[in-house]
Amino acid sequence: MIRRALALAVFLSLAGAVIAGTWWRALDDALTRLEERGRADLALAGDRLLGQLQRYREMTVLMADHPEILRFALDPSVPAEPVDALLRRTADMTRSDEFLLVGASGRIIASSGPGRGANRSTAPYVRRAMQGALGFHHEIEKETGRRLFVYAAPVFSPDGPVAGALVVRIETEAVEVIWRGEPMIVFFTDSDGIAFVSNRDELVLVRLDLMPEGEGEVPADLLRRKVRHIDRHEVWDLDGGPYLPARALHLTRPLPVIEMTGEALVDIAPAERQALLQALVAAAACLVIGAGGYALLERRRALAVQLAAEAEANARLETRVEERTRELSEANEQLHRAQAELVQAGKLSALGQMSAGISHELNQPLMAIRSYAENAGLFLDRAQPEKAAENLGRINDLARRMGRIIKNLRAFARQEHDGMSDVDLVQVVADALELSEARLRASGVGVDWQPPAAAVWVRGGEVRLQQVVMNLLANAADAMEAGGTVSINIAPVAGRVRLAVADTGPGIAEPDRIFDPFYSTKEVGASEGMGLGLSISYGIVQSFGGTIAGRNRDTGGAEFVVELDAAEPGTKAA
Ligand code: ADP
Repeated sequence: MIRRALALAVFLSLAGAVIAGTWWRALDDALTRLEERGRADLALAGDRLLGQLQRYREMTVLMADHPEILRFALDPSVPAEPVDALLRRTADMTRSDEFLLVGASGRIIASSGPGRGANRSTAPYVRRAMQGALGFHHEIEKETGRRLFVYAAPVFSPDGPVAGALVVRIETEAVEVIWRGEPMIVFFTDSDGIAFVSNRDELVLVRLDLMPEGEGEVPADLLRRKVRHIDRHEVWDLDGGPYLPARALHLTRPLPVIEMTGEALVDIAPAERQALLQALVAAAACLVIGAGGYALLERRRALAVQLAAEAEANARLETRVEERTRELSEANEQLHRAQAELVQAGKLSALGQMSAGISHELNQPLMAIRSYAENAGLFLDRAQPEKAAENLGRINDLARRMGRIIKNLRAFARQEHDGMSDVDLVQVVADALELSEARLRASGVGVDWQPPAAAVWVRGGEVRLQQVVMNLLANAADAMEAGGTVSINIAPVAGRVRLAVADTGPGIAEPDRIFDPFYSTKEVGASEGMGLGLSISYGIVQSFGGTIAGRNRDTGGAEFVVELDAAEPGTKAA
Protein backbone atom coordinates (compact mmCIF):
# COMPACT_ATOMS: atom_id res chain seq x y z
CA MET A 1 0.00 0.00 0.00
CA ILE A 2 2.75 2.40 1.06
CA ARG A 3 4.79 1.36 -1.97
CA ARG A 4 1.88 2.16 -4.28
CA ALA A 5 1.30 5.53 -2.64
CA LEU A 6 5.00 6.25 -2.96
CA ALA A 7 5.03 5.20 -6.63
CA LEU A 8 1.98 7.39 -7.26
CA ALA A 9 3.63 10.34 -5.54
CA VAL A 10 6.83 9.85 -7.54
CA PHE A 11 4.87 9.55 -10.78
CA LEU A 12 2.75 12.60 -10.03
CA SER A 13 5.78 14.73 -9.19
CA LEU A 14 7.59 13.49 -12.31
CA ALA A 15 4.54 14.17 -14.45
CA GLY A 16 4.16 17.58 -12.82
CA ALA A 17 7.81 18.34 -13.54
CA VAL A 18 7.46 17.20 -17.16
CA ILE A 19 4.28 19.24 -17.71
CA ALA A 20 5.69 22.32 -16.00
CA GLY A 21 8.98 21.94 -17.90
CA THR A 22 7.15 21.60 -21.20
CA TRP A 23 4.99 24.62 -20.44
CA TRP A 24 8.00 26.70 -19.42
CA ARG A 25 10.06 25.75 -22.47
CA ALA A 26 7.18 26.30 -24.86
CA LEU A 27 6.46 29.69 -23.30
CA ASP A 28 10.11 30.67 -23.41
CA ASP A 29 10.42 29.58 -27.05
CA ALA A 30 7.25 31.42 -28.06
CA LEU A 31 8.34 34.53 -26.15
CA THR A 32 11.75 34.40 -27.82
CA ARG A 33 10.09 34.30 -31.24
CA LEU A 34 7.72 37.11 -30.24
CA GLU A 35 10.64 39.16 -28.97
CA GLU A 36 12.67 38.67 -32.16
CA ARG A 37 9.78 39.76 -34.31
CA GLY A 38 8.92 42.60 -31.89
CA ARG A 39 12.48 43.88 -31.90
CA ALA A 40 12.53 43.96 -35.68
CA ASP A 41 9.17 45.75 -35.75
CA LEU A 42 10.28 48.21 -33.07
CA ALA A 43 13.48 48.97 -34.99
CA LEU A 44 11.37 49.55 -38.08
CA ALA A 45 8.99 51.86 -36.22
CA GLY A 46 11.89 53.81 -34.74
CA ASP A 47 13.53 54.14 -38.13
CA ARG A 48 10.26 55.26 -39.62
CA LEU A 49 9.78 58.00 -36.99
CA LEU A 50 13.35 59.14 -37.41
CA GLY A 51 12.92 59.12 -41.18
CA GLN A 52 9.80 61.27 -40.99
CA LEU A 53 11.45 63.75 -38.60
CA GLN A 54 14.54 63.72 -40.76
CA ARG A 55 12.47 65.07 -43.63
CA TYR A 56 11.32 68.01 -41.49
CA ARG A 57 14.80 68.59 -40.23
CA GLU A 58 16.29 68.80 -43.70
CA MET A 59 13.46 71.01 -44.84
CA THR A 60 14.06 73.35 -41.90
CA VAL A 61 17.74 73.62 -42.74
CA LEU A 62 16.96 74.20 -46.42
CA MET A 63 14.33 76.83 -45.69
CA ALA A 64 16.74 78.66 -43.39
CA ASP A 65 18.92 79.16 -46.45
CA HIS A 66 16.06 80.57 -48.48
CA PRO A 67 17.28 84.05 -49.85
CA GLU A 68 13.98 85.76 -49.06
CA ILE A 69 14.07 84.61 -45.49
CA LEU A 70 17.70 85.65 -45.13
CA ARG A 71 16.95 89.02 -46.58
CA PHE A 72 14.04 89.55 -44.20
CA ALA A 73 16.03 88.36 -41.24
CA LEU A 74 18.73 90.87 -42.04
CA ASP A 75 16.24 93.65 -42.61
CA PRO A 76 12.93 93.08 -40.82
CA SER A 77 11.77 96.57 -41.49
CA VAL A 78 10.35 95.67 -44.90
CA PRO A 79 6.76 94.43 -44.99
CA ALA A 80 6.50 90.90 -43.62
CA GLU A 81 3.53 89.69 -45.60
CA PRO A 82 5.44 88.18 -48.53
CA VAL A 83 7.56 86.17 -46.07
CA ASP A 84 4.46 85.14 -44.11
CA ALA A 85 2.93 83.93 -47.36
CA LEU A 86 6.07 81.98 -48.25
CA LEU A 87 6.10 80.34 -44.85
CA ARG A 88 2.39 79.54 -45.03
CA ARG A 89 2.79 77.99 -48.45
CA THR A 90 5.65 75.88 -47.32
CA ALA A 91 3.80 74.76 -44.17
CA ASP A 92 0.83 73.72 -46.21
CA MET A 93 2.95 71.82 -48.68
CA THR A 94 4.96 69.97 -46.04
CA ARG A 95 2.03 69.35 -43.69
CA SER A 96 3.87 71.16 -40.96
CA ASP A 97 1.95 72.91 -38.27
CA GLU A 98 3.74 76.21 -38.27
CA PHE A 99 6.77 78.00 -39.65
CA LEU A 100 8.16 80.90 -37.66
CA LEU A 101 11.01 83.20 -38.35
CA VAL A 102 12.61 84.54 -35.18
CA GLY A 103 14.76 87.59 -35.62
CA ALA A 104 18.06 88.35 -33.89
CA SER A 105 16.05 90.08 -31.17
CA GLY A 106 14.39 86.81 -30.22
CA ARG A 107 10.97 87.96 -31.38
CA ILE A 108 8.91 86.38 -34.13
CA ILE A 109 9.22 88.52 -37.21
CA ALA A 110 7.35 86.35 -39.68
CA SER A 111 4.99 83.42 -39.28
CA SER A 112 2.85 81.05 -41.31
CA GLY A 113 0.04 81.74 -38.80
CA PRO A 114 -0.65 84.40 -36.20
CA GLY A 115 1.76 85.07 -33.38
CA ARG A 116 4.03 87.62 -34.95
CA GLY A 117 5.79 89.78 -32.33
CA ALA A 118 5.84 87.12 -29.59
CA ASN A 119 9.13 86.77 -27.81
CA ARG A 120 10.81 83.39 -28.16
CA SER A 121 14.29 84.32 -27.04
CA THR A 122 14.06 82.01 -24.01
CA ALA A 123 13.07 78.89 -25.90
CA PRO A 124 16.03 76.52 -25.67
CA TYR A 125 15.83 75.47 -29.33
CA VAL A 126 15.88 79.19 -30.41
CA ARG A 127 18.86 79.73 -28.23
CA ARG A 128 20.62 76.78 -29.78
CA ALA A 129 19.84 78.04 -33.28
CA MET A 130 21.07 81.48 -32.37
CA GLN A 131 24.35 79.81 -31.39
CA GLY A 132 24.59 78.37 -34.86
CA ALA A 133 23.48 74.82 -34.11
CA LEU A 134 20.30 72.99 -35.04
CA GLY A 135 17.78 73.09 -32.21
CA PHE A 136 15.35 70.26 -31.60
CA HIS A 137 12.64 69.97 -29.03
CA HIS A 138 9.33 68.38 -28.28
CA GLU A 139 6.63 70.19 -26.37
CA ILE A 140 2.98 70.32 -25.49
CA GLU A 141 1.23 73.48 -26.47
CA LYS A 142 -0.26 74.83 -23.31
CA GLU A 143 -3.29 76.44 -24.92
CA THR A 144 -4.35 73.50 -27.11
CA GLY A 145 -2.61 70.53 -25.49
CA ARG A 146 -1.17 69.57 -28.88
CA ARG A 147 2.09 67.68 -28.97
CA LEU A 148 4.69 69.17 -31.21
CA PHE A 149 8.15 68.43 -32.48
CA VAL A 150 10.11 71.60 -33.06
CA TYR A 151 13.18 72.14 -35.22
CA ALA A 152 15.06 75.44 -35.19
CA ALA A 153 17.72 76.14 -37.83
CA PRO A 154 20.04 79.18 -37.73
CA VAL A 155 19.70 81.75 -40.53
CA PHE A 156 23.26 82.74 -41.25
CA SER A 157 24.05 86.27 -42.66
CA PRO A 158 26.53 86.23 -45.55
CA ASP A 159 29.31 87.58 -43.38
CA GLY A 160 28.95 84.90 -40.72
CA PRO A 161 26.83 85.78 -37.65
CA VAL A 162 23.41 84.35 -37.09
CA ALA A 163 20.71 86.71 -38.25
CA GLY A 164 17.78 84.72 -36.96
CA ALA A 165 16.28 81.25 -36.51
CA LEU A 166 13.79 79.43 -38.66
CA VAL A 167 11.48 77.38 -36.43
CA VAL A 168 9.30 74.56 -37.76
CA ARG A 169 6.64 73.03 -35.52
CA ILE A 170 5.35 69.62 -36.50
CA GLU A 171 2.28 68.10 -34.90
CA THR A 172 2.99 64.50 -33.76
CA GLU A 173 -0.25 63.25 -35.25
CA ALA A 174 1.25 63.89 -38.65
CA VAL A 175 3.72 61.11 -37.94
CA GLU A 176 1.47 58.92 -35.76
CA VAL A 177 -1.35 58.63 -38.22
CA ILE A 178 0.79 56.65 -40.59
CA TRP A 179 1.24 53.63 -38.32
CA ARG A 180 -2.01 53.63 -36.39
CA GLY A 181 -3.68 50.22 -36.14
CA GLU A 182 -0.56 48.15 -36.35
CA PRO A 183 -0.92 45.09 -34.12
CA MET A 184 2.14 45.85 -32.06
CA ILE A 185 1.84 48.70 -29.57
CA VAL A 186 4.67 51.19 -30.04
CA PHE A 187 5.35 54.34 -28.09
CA PHE A 188 8.22 56.71 -27.69
CA THR A 189 8.92 58.06 -24.23
CA ASP A 190 10.93 61.09 -23.32
CA SER A 191 13.37 61.45 -20.47
CA ASP A 192 10.45 62.00 -18.04
CA GLY A 193 9.01 58.62 -18.96
CA ILE A 194 5.98 60.13 -20.70
CA ALA A 195 4.72 58.45 -23.86
CA PHE A 196 4.99 61.35 -26.30
CA VAL A 197 4.25 59.50 -29.49
CA SER A 198 2.29 56.24 -29.77
CA ASN A 199 0.18 54.26 -32.21
CA ARG A 200 -2.43 53.81 -29.42
CA ASP A 201 -4.43 56.78 -28.12
CA GLU A 202 -4.69 55.13 -24.69
CA LEU A 203 -0.97 55.53 -24.18
CA VAL A 204 -0.52 59.09 -25.40
CA LEU A 205 0.87 61.36 -22.70
CA VAL A 206 0.54 58.57 -20.18
CA ARG A 207 3.31 58.18 -17.66
CA LEU A 208 4.36 54.56 -17.62
CA ASP A 209 5.48 54.27 -14.11
CA LEU A 210 5.53 51.49 -11.61
CA MET A 211 2.72 51.74 -9.20
CA PRO A 212 2.36 49.47 -6.23
CA GLU A 213 -0.93 47.66 -6.19
CA GLY A 214 -3.81 48.65 -3.98
CA GLU A 215 -2.87 52.31 -3.72
CA GLY A 216 -6.26 53.68 -4.36
CA GLU A 217 -7.35 55.60 -7.40
CA VAL A 218 -5.04 55.46 -10.38
CA PRO A 219 -4.54 58.85 -11.99
CA ALA A 220 -5.72 58.98 -15.60
CA ASP A 221 -2.24 59.75 -16.94
CA LEU A 222 -0.64 56.85 -15.08
CA LEU A 223 -0.66 53.34 -16.41
CA ARG A 224 -0.58 50.79 -13.67
CA ARG A 225 1.86 48.02 -14.50
CA LYS A 226 3.78 45.30 -12.79
CA VAL A 227 7.09 44.11 -14.13
CA ARG A 228 8.19 40.53 -13.92
CA HIS A 229 10.61 38.38 -15.79
CA ILE A 230 10.00 35.10 -17.59
CA ASP A 231 13.50 33.81 -18.11
CA ARG A 232 15.22 36.79 -19.77
CA HIS A 233 12.02 38.34 -21.11
CA GLU A 234 10.53 41.38 -19.41
CA VAL A 235 6.79 41.04 -19.11
CA TRP A 236 4.42 43.75 -17.97
CA ASP A 237 1.11 43.03 -16.30
CA LEU A 238 -1.11 45.91 -17.37
CA ASP A 239 -4.39 47.20 -16.14
CA GLY A 240 -5.04 49.43 -19.11
CA GLY A 241 -8.54 48.68 -20.29
CA PRO A 242 -9.85 46.62 -23.19
CA TYR A 243 -7.50 47.98 -25.83
CA LEU A 244 -4.29 47.12 -24.07
CA PRO A 245 -3.14 43.53 -23.51
CA ALA A 246 -3.29 42.26 -19.93
CA ARG A 247 0.18 40.74 -20.24
CA ALA A 248 2.70 42.02 -22.72
CA LEU A 249 6.33 41.59 -23.60
CA HIS A 250 8.12 44.91 -23.08
CA LEU A 251 10.86 45.87 -25.54
CA THR A 252 12.96 49.01 -25.67
CA ARG A 253 15.23 50.69 -28.17
CA PRO A 254 17.03 53.94 -27.39
CA LEU A 255 16.71 56.71 -29.96
CA PRO A 256 19.34 59.24 -28.81
CA VAL A 257 18.90 61.37 -31.95
CA ILE A 258 15.53 62.58 -30.72
CA GLU A 259 16.34 62.00 -27.04
CA MET A 260 13.66 59.40 -26.69
CA THR A 261 13.30 55.71 -26.11
CA GLY A 262 11.28 53.54 -28.44
CA GLU A 263 9.20 51.02 -26.51
CA ALA A 264 6.93 48.24 -27.65
CA LEU A 265 4.34 46.05 -25.94
CA VAL A 266 3.66 42.69 -27.58
CA ASP A 267 0.65 40.74 -26.38
CA ILE A 268 1.89 37.39 -25.02
CA ALA A 269 -1.57 35.73 -25.06
CA PRO A 270 -0.75 33.71 -28.22
CA ALA A 271 2.50 32.50 -26.65
CA GLU A 272 0.62 31.55 -23.49
CA ARG A 273 -1.99 29.71 -25.53
CA GLN A 274 0.71 27.81 -27.38
CA ALA A 275 2.51 26.93 -24.14
CA LEU A 276 -0.76 25.80 -22.58
CA LEU A 277 -1.52 23.66 -25.60
CA GLN A 278 1.88 21.97 -25.44
CA ALA A 279 1.54 21.49 -21.70
CA LEU A 280 -1.87 19.87 -22.30
CA VAL A 281 -0.33 17.56 -24.87
CA ALA A 282 2.41 16.65 -22.37
CA ALA A 283 -0.25 16.08 -19.68
CA ALA A 284 -2.19 13.82 -22.03
CA ALA A 285 1.00 11.89 -22.81
CA CYS A 286 1.74 11.59 -19.07
CA LEU A 287 -1.82 10.40 -18.50
CA VAL A 288 -1.49 7.74 -21.19
CA ILE A 289 1.93 6.63 -19.88
CA GLY A 290 0.64 6.67 -16.31
CA ALA A 291 -2.46 4.68 -17.19
CA GLY A 292 -0.35 2.20 -19.16
CA GLY A 293 2.15 1.91 -16.33
CA TYR A 294 -0.63 1.51 -13.79
CA ALA A 295 -2.29 -1.23 -15.85
CA LEU A 296 1.07 -2.98 -16.21
CA LEU A 297 1.77 -2.75 -12.47
CA GLU A 298 -1.71 -4.04 -11.68
CA ARG A 299 -1.18 -6.99 -14.02
CA ARG A 300 2.18 -7.75 -12.49
CA ARG A 301 0.70 -7.53 -9.01
CA ALA A 302 -2.19 -9.83 -9.93
CA LEU A 303 0.28 -12.25 -11.50
CA ALA A 304 2.51 -12.16 -8.43
CA VAL A 305 -0.50 -12.82 -6.18
CA GLN A 306 -1.56 -15.69 -8.41
CA LEU A 307 1.96 -17.13 -8.48
CA ALA A 308 2.25 -16.86 -4.72
CA ALA A 309 -1.10 -18.63 -4.31
CA GLU A 310 0.00 -21.33 -6.74
CA ALA A 311 3.34 -21.73 -4.96
CA GLU A 312 1.52 -22.06 -1.63
CA ALA A 313 -0.90 -24.59 -3.08
CA ASN A 314 2.05 -26.51 -4.57
CA ALA A 315 3.88 -26.48 -1.26
CA ARG A 316 0.73 -27.74 0.50
CA LEU A 317 0.33 -30.42 -2.14
CA GLU A 318 3.95 -31.46 -1.83
CA THR A 319 3.76 -31.81 1.92
CA ARG A 320 0.57 -33.81 1.53
CA VAL A 321 2.20 -36.02 -1.09
CA GLU A 322 5.18 -36.49 1.21
CA GLU A 323 2.90 -37.37 4.11
CA ARG A 324 0.92 -39.79 1.99
CA THR A 325 4.11 -41.33 0.60
CA ARG A 326 5.42 -41.82 4.11
CA GLU A 327 2.13 -43.29 5.24
CA LEU A 328 2.01 -45.56 2.22
CA SER A 329 5.55 -46.79 2.61
CA GLU A 330 4.90 -47.44 6.31
CA ALA A 331 1.73 -49.33 5.39
CA ASN A 332 3.66 -51.20 2.73
CA GLU A 333 6.29 -52.20 5.25
CA GLN A 334 3.61 -53.35 7.66
CA LEU A 335 1.99 -55.28 4.84
CA HIS A 336 5.29 -56.91 3.97
CA ARG A 337 5.81 -57.91 7.57
CA ALA A 338 2.25 -59.22 7.88
CA GLN A 339 2.64 -61.09 4.62
CA ALA A 340 5.87 -62.74 5.72
CA GLU A 341 4.20 -63.74 8.98
CA LEU A 342 1.20 -65.06 7.06
CA VAL A 343 3.40 -67.08 4.73
CA GLN A 344 5.00 -68.72 7.69
CA ALA A 345 1.67 -69.20 9.44
CA GLY A 346 0.19 -70.66 6.24
CA LYS A 347 3.10 -73.00 5.99
CA LEU A 348 2.76 -74.16 9.55
CA SER A 349 -0.94 -74.71 9.07
CA ALA A 350 -0.20 -76.66 5.89
CA LEU A 351 2.37 -78.69 7.83
CA GLY A 352 -0.22 -79.43 10.45
CA GLN A 353 -2.64 -80.54 7.78
CA MET A 354 -0.03 -82.61 6.10
CA SER A 355 1.26 -84.24 9.24
CA ALA A 356 -1.58 -86.76 9.37
CA GLY A 357 -1.06 -87.81 5.77
CA ILE A 358 2.67 -87.75 6.15
CA SER A 359 2.77 -89.83 9.30
CA HIS A 360 0.66 -92.33 7.38
CA GLU A 361 3.02 -91.93 4.47
CA LEU A 362 6.02 -92.64 6.66
CA ASN A 363 4.28 -95.27 8.68
CA GLN A 364 3.39 -97.37 5.64
CA PRO A 365 6.93 -97.80 4.30
CA LEU A 366 8.14 -98.27 7.89
CA MET A 367 5.73 -101.15 8.34
CA ALA A 368 6.74 -102.48 4.93
CA ILE A 369 10.43 -102.13 5.86
CA ARG A 370 9.81 -104.08 9.04
CA SER A 371 8.06 -106.90 7.23
CA TYR A 372 10.67 -106.88 4.43
CA ALA A 373 13.42 -107.01 7.08
CA GLU A 374 11.71 -109.86 8.84
CA ASN A 375 11.27 -111.68 5.55
CA ALA A 376 14.88 -111.05 4.61
CA GLY A 377 15.92 -112.67 7.90
CA LEU A 378 13.72 -115.64 7.14
CA PHE A 379 15.10 -115.95 3.64
CA LEU A 380 18.65 -115.87 4.99
CA ASP A 381 17.73 -118.55 7.47
CA ARG A 382 16.41 -120.63 4.59
CA ALA A 383 19.59 -120.00 2.69
CA GLN A 384 17.80 -118.04 0.00
CA PRO A 385 20.13 -115.10 -0.18
CA GLU A 386 18.78 -113.83 -3.55
CA LYS A 387 15.34 -113.37 -2.09
CA ALA A 388 16.84 -111.78 0.99
CA ALA A 389 18.80 -109.39 -1.25
CA GLU A 390 15.62 -108.56 -3.18
CA ASN A 391 13.88 -107.69 0.10
CA LEU A 392 16.82 -105.63 1.22
CA GLY A 393 16.72 -103.80 -2.12
CA ARG A 394 13.02 -102.97 -1.50
CA ILE A 395 13.95 -101.79 2.01
CA ASN A 396 16.54 -99.56 0.45
CA ASP A 397 13.98 -98.09 -2.02
CA LEU A 398 11.48 -97.47 0.75
CA ALA A 399 14.10 -95.86 3.00
CA ARG A 400 15.17 -93.59 0.11
CA ARG A 401 11.54 -92.62 -0.49
CA MET A 402 11.10 -91.84 3.23
CA GLY A 403 14.29 -89.82 3.17
CA ARG A 404 12.97 -87.79 0.21
CA ILE A 405 9.72 -87.03 1.99
CA ILE A 406 11.53 -85.93 5.11
CA LYS A 407 13.92 -83.82 3.06
CA ASN A 408 10.98 -82.09 1.35
CA LEU A 409 9.28 -81.50 4.65
CA ARG A 410 12.42 -79.95 6.08
CA ALA A 411 12.80 -77.76 3.08
CA PHE A 412 9.14 -76.70 3.25
CA ALA A 413 9.28 -75.79 6.93
CA ARG A 414 12.44 -73.78 6.39
CA GLN A 415 11.93 -70.02 6.53
CA GLU A 416 13.03 -68.71 3.17
CA HIS A 417 14.56 -65.28 2.75
CA ASP A 418 12.90 -62.67 0.58
CA GLY A 419 15.44 -63.00 -2.21
CA MET A 420 14.89 -64.60 -5.60
CA SER A 421 16.92 -67.01 -7.63
CA ASP A 422 16.47 -69.19 -10.67
CA VAL A 423 14.21 -72.09 -9.82
CA ASP A 424 13.36 -75.19 -11.84
CA LEU A 425 9.56 -75.11 -11.96
CA VAL A 426 9.39 -78.77 -13.06
CA GLN A 427 11.26 -79.85 -9.93
CA VAL A 428 9.03 -77.63 -7.74
CA VAL A 429 5.89 -79.25 -9.16
CA ALA A 430 7.40 -82.71 -8.71
CA ASP A 431 8.28 -82.00 -5.05
CA ALA A 432 4.86 -80.50 -4.35
CA LEU A 433 3.18 -83.55 -5.91
CA GLU A 434 5.28 -85.83 -3.78
CA LEU A 435 4.30 -84.00 -0.59
CA SER A 436 0.63 -83.87 -1.60
CA GLU A 437 0.45 -87.42 -2.79
CA ALA A 438 -1.25 -88.76 0.33
CA ARG A 439 -3.82 -85.94 0.35
CA LEU A 440 -4.68 -86.52 -3.30
CA ARG A 441 -4.86 -90.21 -2.87
CA ALA A 442 -7.18 -89.81 0.13
CA SER A 443 -9.67 -87.98 -2.06
CA GLY A 444 -9.25 -90.43 -4.91
CA VAL A 445 -7.91 -87.70 -7.16
CA GLY A 446 -5.89 -88.72 -10.19
CA VAL A 447 -2.99 -86.54 -11.43
CA ASP A 448 -2.51 -85.67 -15.09
CA TRP A 449 1.06 -84.42 -15.24
CA GLN A 450 3.43 -84.79 -18.15
CA PRO A 451 6.62 -83.10 -17.00
CA PRO A 452 8.61 -81.38 -19.77
CA ALA A 453 11.73 -83.20 -20.86
CA ALA A 454 14.07 -80.46 -19.65
CA ALA A 455 14.05 -78.17 -16.65
CA VAL A 456 12.01 -74.93 -16.99
CA TRP A 457 13.73 -72.10 -15.13
CA VAL A 458 11.79 -69.24 -13.57
CA ARG A 459 12.57 -66.39 -11.20
CA GLY A 460 11.34 -66.99 -7.66
CA GLY A 461 11.91 -68.71 -4.31
CA GLU A 462 11.84 -72.48 -4.37
CA VAL A 463 10.09 -73.10 -1.04
CA ARG A 464 7.50 -70.32 -1.55
CA LEU A 465 6.72 -71.54 -5.07
CA GLN A 466 6.31 -75.05 -3.73
CA GLN A 467 3.94 -73.67 -1.11
CA VAL A 468 1.84 -72.04 -3.89
CA VAL A 469 1.65 -75.24 -5.95
CA MET A 470 0.83 -77.32 -2.89
CA ASN A 471 -1.93 -74.90 -1.99
CA LEU A 472 -3.40 -75.19 -5.49
CA LEU A 473 -3.24 -78.99 -5.28
CA ALA A 474 -4.84 -78.99 -1.83
CA ASN A 475 -7.67 -76.73 -3.03
CA ALA A 476 -8.21 -79.04 -6.03
CA ALA A 477 -8.34 -82.06 -3.74
CA ASP A 478 -10.80 -80.23 -1.45
CA ALA A 479 -13.01 -79.42 -4.44
CA MET A 480 -13.03 -83.04 -5.60
CA GLU A 481 -13.75 -84.95 -2.41
CA ALA A 482 -15.68 -87.45 -4.55
CA GLY A 483 -12.75 -87.98 -6.90
CA GLY A 484 -11.61 -86.41 -10.14
CA THR A 485 -8.47 -85.42 -11.98
CA VAL A 486 -6.08 -82.56 -11.45
CA SER A 487 -4.15 -81.60 -14.59
CA ILE A 488 -0.87 -79.76 -14.32
CA ASN A 489 0.71 -78.06 -17.30
CA ILE A 490 3.83 -75.96 -17.81
CA ALA A 491 4.20 -73.87 -20.97
CA PRO A 492 6.48 -70.96 -21.88
CA VAL A 493 4.71 -67.79 -23.20
CA ALA A 494 6.64 -64.77 -24.52
CA GLY A 495 9.42 -64.42 -21.93
CA ARG A 496 7.28 -65.88 -19.17
CA VAL A 497 6.34 -69.35 -17.96
CA ARG A 498 2.74 -70.37 -17.47
CA LEU A 499 1.78 -73.00 -14.89
CA ALA A 500 -1.86 -74.16 -15.07
CA VAL A 501 -3.51 -76.31 -12.39
CA ALA A 502 -7.00 -77.43 -13.45
CA ASP A 503 -9.47 -79.74 -11.79
CA THR A 504 -12.76 -81.42 -12.61
CA GLY A 505 -14.52 -80.22 -9.48
CA PRO A 506 -17.66 -78.04 -9.21
CA GLY A 507 -15.77 -74.84 -10.04
CA ILE A 508 -15.31 -71.62 -8.10
CA ALA A 509 -18.42 -70.18 -6.42
CA GLU A 510 -17.31 -66.49 -6.39
CA PRO A 511 -14.25 -66.01 -8.62
CA ASP A 512 -13.99 -62.29 -7.64
CA ARG A 513 -13.45 -63.04 -3.97
CA ILE A 514 -11.16 -66.06 -3.88
CA PHE A 515 -8.00 -63.95 -3.25
CA ASP A 516 -9.57 -62.02 -0.35
CA PRO A 517 -7.98 -63.02 2.94
CA PHE A 518 -10.23 -65.21 5.10
CA TYR A 519 -12.63 -65.84 2.25
CA SER A 520 -13.50 -69.52 2.41
CA THR A 521 -16.45 -71.62 1.43
CA LYS A 522 -15.18 -74.47 3.49
CA GLU A 523 -16.68 -75.24 6.85
CA VAL A 524 -14.69 -73.95 9.77
CA GLY A 525 -12.90 -76.75 11.41
CA ALA A 526 -13.44 -79.06 8.51
CA SER A 527 -10.28 -79.97 6.64
CA GLU A 528 -8.30 -76.76 5.93
CA GLY A 529 -10.68 -73.84 5.50
CA MET A 530 -9.00 -70.73 6.86
CA GLY A 531 -9.40 -68.65 3.70
CA LEU A 532 -5.72 -67.70 3.69
CA GLY A 533 -4.19 -70.13 1.16
CA LEU A 534 -4.96 -68.16 -2.00
CA SER A 535 -4.32 -64.70 -0.55
CA ILE A 536 -0.91 -65.85 0.67
CA SER A 537 -0.21 -67.43 -2.73
CA TYR A 538 -1.25 -64.16 -4.40
CA GLY A 539 1.25 -62.20 -2.28
CA ILE A 540 4.03 -64.71 -3.00
CA VAL A 541 3.51 -64.74 -6.78
CA GLN A 542 3.30 -60.94 -6.88
CA SER A 543 6.56 -60.64 -4.93
CA PHE A 544 8.18 -62.66 -7.78
CA GLY A 545 6.78 -60.16 -10.32
CA GLY A 546 4.30 -62.74 -11.54
CA THR A 547 0.52 -63.09 -11.63
CA ILE A 548 -2.00 -65.62 -10.39
CA ALA A 549 -5.61 -65.89 -11.58
CA GLY A 550 -8.44 -68.31 -11.08
CA ARG A 551 -11.42 -68.97 -13.36
CA ASN A 552 -14.05 -71.55 -14.13
CA ARG A 553 -13.38 -73.62 -17.22
CA ASP A 554 -15.99 -73.86 -19.95
CA THR A 555 -15.84 -77.63 -19.66
CA GLY A 556 -16.44 -77.46 -15.89
CA GLY A 557 -14.05 -77.30 -12.97
CA ALA A 558 -11.67 -74.59 -11.88
CA GLU A 559 -8.38 -73.58 -13.40
CA PHE A 560 -5.64 -71.60 -11.67
CA VAL A 561 -2.95 -70.05 -13.80
CA VAL A 562 0.36 -68.79 -12.41
CA GLU A 563 2.61 -66.74 -14.71
CA LEU A 564 6.22 -66.14 -13.74
CA ASP A 565 9.20 -64.41 -15.36
CA ALA A 566 11.38 -66.90 -17.20
CA ALA A 567 14.98 -66.93 -15.89
CA GLU A 568 17.43 -65.33 -18.32
CA PRO A 569 19.34 -67.95 -20.28
CA GLY A 570 22.87 -68.22 -18.93
CA THR A 571 21.87 -67.52 -15.33
CA LYS A 572 20.44 -71.00 -14.85
CA ALA A 573 23.54 -72.24 -13.15
CA ALA A 574 23.07 -69.75 -10.30
P1 ADP B 1 -9.35 -72.24 2.01
O1 ADP B 1 -8.85 -73.32 1.09
O2 ADP B 1 -8.77 -72.27 3.33
O3 ADP B 1 -10.79 -72.04 1.97
P2 ADP B 1 -8.21 -70.61 0.02
O4 ADP B 1 -7.77 -69.20 0.02
O5 ADP B 1 -7.19 -71.57 -0.41
O6 ADP B 1 -8.77 -70.92 1.43
O7 ADP B 1 -9.45 -70.76 -0.92
C1 ADP B 1 -10.47 -69.83 -0.85
C2 ADP B 1 -11.72 -70.33 -1.50
O8 ADP B 1 -11.56 -70.43 -2.91
C3 ADP B 1 -12.13 -71.69 -1.11
O9 ADP B 1 -12.84 -71.65 0.10
C4 ADP B 1 -12.99 -72.09 -2.29
O10 ADP B 1 -14.29 -71.62 -2.18
C5 ADP B 1 -12.35 -71.43 -3.44
N1 ADP B 1 -11.52 -72.33 -4.19
C6 ADP B 1 -10.18 -72.42 -4.18
N2 ADP B 1 -9.73 -73.34 -5.03
C7 ADP B 1 -10.83 -73.90 -5.61
C8 ADP B 1 -11.04 -74.92 -6.57
N3 ADP B 1 -10.04 -75.58 -7.12
N4 ADP B 1 -12.31 -75.24 -6.93
C9 ADP B 1 -13.34 -74.52 -6.39
N5 ADP B 1 -13.21 -73.56 -5.45
C10 ADP B 1 -11.97 -73.24 -5.07
